[in-house]
Amino acid sequence: MDYASFERSILRFKKLKTRIIGRSEDGRKIYSLSAFFDPRKPWVIMQGAVHAREHLSADFVLTLASIVEHKFELFKKMKSFPNICFVPMVNPDGVEIVCHGIKSIRNEKLKQSASRWISGDEHMFVKSNARGVDINNNFDAMWDRHQNSCVPSLQGFIGTHPFSESETRALRDVTLEVKPIFSISFHLKGEEIYWDFFQKGSRRKIDKKIAKLVSKVNGYAVKSTENSSSGGYKDWCVQFLEIPSLTIELGRDELSHPVEESEIYDIIAKNIGILDVLCDIVRLIEGER
Ligand SMILES: [Zn+2]
Repeated sequence: MDYASFERSILRFKKLKTRIIGRSEDGRKIYSLSAFFDPRKPWVIMQGAVHAREHLSADFVLTLASIVEHKFELFKKMKSFPNICFVPMVNPDGVEIVCHGIKSIRNEKLKQSASRWISGDEHMFVKSNARGVDINNNFDAMWDRHQNSCVPSLQGFIGTHPFSESETRALRDVTLEVKPIFSISFHLKGEEIYWDFFQKGSRRKIDKKIAKLVSKVNGYAVKSTENSSSGGYKDWCVQFLEIPSLTIELGRDELSHPVEESEIYDIIAKNIGILDVLCDIVRLIEGER
């Protein structure tokens, strides 16, 4: 979904509270949506559309949020069901570039420089933000271990320093404020679950166990990115916050980017049970603390 549809949807929630957690580099509002049940309950963060062309992940995070809205009283009564902070669209400028092209960039300077790194139909394949920085390479977690690109690009540019981008800072700041015990990032595609970033000992065992619990729900493969990943939100959560954190790649691998909106039904069917397994995950984490 594009940013206009996203904004219409997110402003419709009533029981879940909508909040502006920051502004993108091109000035769009970055929203969170909080399901706050009880101050004694721990928090979990679920986020999507860090990568622009994977904006179907925003649709999925919003779907999870609407289920929580509809079953709010039921979830509130469930002892282990956590408070949840949803950040469905971390990279709104990138999503607009994918959906509507370079013309969607409002700041003239940004638009001019984007025309140097995006040509023709390439806009549909952008993962980065409006400054050509890959937000999921911009977190402070072995940030410059993989210099995929050292200039603004469709994907893989790590930025000039960790947290150089306003989108990265918005997600960092809301995370530091909420202090989640667990986080999930939704991306596309490949039907895979990534969980590791150099955890040791019992943390490693528990975090892998959590990935396996989710894998039982959606049937996705549990995989390691330890040797190829750096600067990601999941990496930062694992390393800096020392919490379990998953990256879930939604959607079948044979699909091509940007994945058709009709695929959302298959994605929902396979992943809706993630809400049901949250209680088990919370009990597992709390049992170890
Ligand atoms: Zn991605």
